[in-house]
Amino acid sequence: MSLFGTEPLTAAYGRKHTTLEEAQADFNKDKDFQTPSGRYTNRSDLAKMYPHLERIRVRFNRLEDTGYVLFKAELKPEPEPKPKPKGRPTVTWNGEEYAVPSDREIEQMLWDTAEAIDGCRVEPDGTCPHGAPSWLLQLGMI
Ligand SMILES: [Zn+2]
Repeated sequence: MSLFGTEPLTAAYGRKHTTLEEAQADFNKDKDFQTPSGRYTNRSDLAKMYPHLERIRVRFNRLEDTGYVLFKAELKPEPEPKPKPKGRPTVTWNGEEYAVPSDREIEQMLWDTAEAIDGCRVEPDGTCPHGAPSWLLQLGMI
């Protein structure tokens, strides 16, 4: 099949892509691109026209570079999950160390059921069947 007249695509409506990643991101969002012949198109249209096409060439970096955007967005690696903040305070209860919940979690416990140190659901001022106090008790908030 010929993609003559269809590729390379360029960003439509004055959008600019500095990097190929930006072009891929817009392609994933089904934003419009323009073909060399001036037609507007997007990922869905192209996928209908060329069901077996896996990638298509785009221009980016002020049209100085070209690269390929992929139809299968899942080929793009997911961003790394944010690392958990290190150095969270802990309390030792019954010989085990437990991370103190965040301020936000503590605040929710004031309105909802609270959590005991060992993870049991308890009344905000309660102690679980294992003898673990609620975080609110432990932290002296009640
Ligand atoms: Zn318990």
